[in-house]
Amino acid sequence: MSEPRRNFDKLLVEVSKIVARTPALQTFAPVPDDLEFVPREPAREVFANSLQGKLPPAIAPLQALVTATEAVLESAQWRATYTKEELGQDFIDRYGYFELYGPEGHYISHQSRAFLGYWGAGLHYPSHCHLAEEIYCVAAGQALFGVDDADGQVIEAGHTRQHSSNQSHWMTTEDSAVLCLVLWRGPGLAGSATLE
Ligand code: ZN
Repeated sequence: MSEPRRNFDKLLVEVSKIVARTPALQTFAPVPDDLEFVPREPAREVFANSLQGKLPPAIAPLQALVTATEAVLESAQWRATYTKEELGQDFIDRYGYFELYGPEGHYISHQSRAFLGYWGAGLHYPSHCHLAEEIYCVAAGQALFGVDDADGQVIEAGHTRQHSSNQSHWMTTEDSAVLCLVLWRGPGLAGSATLE
């Protein structure tokens, strides 16, 4: 088995542990049972390298997840969804995610989707929505999460935030970067987010 494959397997084990012991995640979407690993080309290596040693400090129960994420930084197929014209160069340079499992993931699944996403400090991810339902679990750091026009709420490591289908939501990082595990389920699983 290749080194990247072994590292993705370790990350999948850690994600499975977090999902299993976090009732909100387990209820939302248990880890699929149709996972099939597919080799994928790494992408956005410059961004991946910029995260070496820079992931926000983790708290004890989530340390293994952060360590396992660090181990796949260089082999992950990092994506951005948006362009610099939409969100600005600084946002694009300091934000990225990869799909651990799902329709286009490192492991293919048609049951649900899991992303690991990183936002540097001091970024505003403006209101956006998508058909699929979503739950964020902050893995390290913290961010301000908001829906519609309501005031945001700080979500810290180990805590979750759920968004319903097509619900408008936004996120702002302040002094700290944030690393999140994000799950999607339901219709629109293979879709993507659009800005409003
Ligand atoms: Zn979302």
